[in-house]
Amino acid sequence: MQSFTLAAPNGLDAATDAGGRGGRYIAGGTDLLQLAKDNVETPDRLIDLEPLPLTDITVTDDSLRLGAMARMSEVAAHPAVVARWPVISQALLASASPQIRNMGTIGGNLLQRTRCGYFRDTGFACNKRVPGSGCPAREGENRMLAILGTSEHCIASHASDLAVALIVLEASVDLRAPDGTTRTIPLAELHKLPGDTPHVETTLRPGELITAVAVPASRAGMRSHYLKVRDRASFEFALVSAAVAIDAGAGTVHDIRVAAGGVGTKPWRLPEVEEALRGHPLTPKTLADAAALAGQGATPATQNGFKQVLLRRAVLRALQTATA
Ligand SMILES: Cc1cc2nc3c(=O)[nH]c(=O)nc-3n(C[C@H](O)[C@H](O)[C@H](O)COP(=O)(O)OP(=O)(O)OC[C@H]3O[C@@H](n4cnc5c(N)ncnc54)[C@H](O)[C@@H]3O)c2cc1C
Ligand code: SF4
Repeated sequence: MQSFTLAAPNGLDAATDAGGRGGRYIAGGTDLLQLAKDNVETPDRLIDLEPLPLTDITVTDDSLRLGAMARMSEVAAHPAVVARWPVISQALLASASPQIRNMGTIGGNLLQRTRCGYFRDTGFACNKRVPGSGCPAREGENRMLAILGTSEHCIASHASDLAVALIVLEASVDLRAPDGTTRTIPLAELHKLPGDTPHVETTLRPGELITAVAVPASRAGMRSHYLKVRDRASFEFALVSAAVAIDAGAGTVHDIRVAAGGVGTKPWRLPEVEEALRGHPLTPKTLADAAALAGQGATPATQNGFKQVLLRRAVLRALQTATA
């Protein structure tokens, strides 16, 4: 592990100024420190976000605002989140372990890196870690990896459960640049497809800090659900997950958002399923017909074709649960 300095900034200005000069932000450290220990990442200057005033969870009639340093466990247990945005709480409780959720933060969770084993082992080539070195996963161990949004250069799946829940809620991300300017982007625009630059994973600009995630209130959000399918019941990443938010008053689907995890190179919205449901009567048949469309355009690798079937079943089950 390369040695590094750790700076404790006395405010947002000092933090983003240091970020603009090449320092790396560290929040809970549950992902970054493991990557540093394994020499997958070699930061020499870390900027501790712990002292910053970014921990608030603010609820109004219209929205939920999660400070970037709010802990996963606090957000999962917040009574308003459980009642009005259950998909967030469920996705977080299905993530990692209680100990990691006590340390891990909302900002850090969204920026965690892929669990592709070749990426995390410097003994192998990997285009994401060393651009141009190759992608052994294409012909190697790829059972856990993506079937949607892949490229010939990378098929790594995105690992965050929370991000999948947040894109069905149409959340946005507040950012602060080193010069003090701020901007807000839809969460759906934060993560990039791998294309021919899989090492460029987000649309963040150099030194940009996530300060908060904002989630609008909606009737669909109140009737939302997260289903995660994995190899063991806890402490495991998704093989496939499905997030659903639905408003189906008087038996007709007015508002529907569906997304999937474990299958995409980024959190993956499923417009083909949404279009098959929007404006239609809520019946067992419409749910089944819509779920059968999930994952159009998938390009499985050698070991993960089973995810196409699993995705359709997970989406159907999540739709049934959210509307039960
Ligand atoms: C054994 C294990 C199992 C896990 N299982 C799951 C799982 O099932 N589902 C799941 O979703 N996750 C899982 N995780 C991942 C875990 O949720 C993340 O490690 C955690 O959320 C990262 O948050 P952190 O605050 O510790 O981030 P850090 O490790 O501190 O940072 C992660 C990255 O985000 C950057 N960063 C952090 N905060 C900010 C910010 N505010 N602005 C800009 N950049 C920032 C850092 O520079 C770094 O690049 C697991 C992790 C482990 C170790
Ligand atoms: S799938 Fe992506 S992360 Fe995994 S080895 Fe290939 S390039 Fe690296």
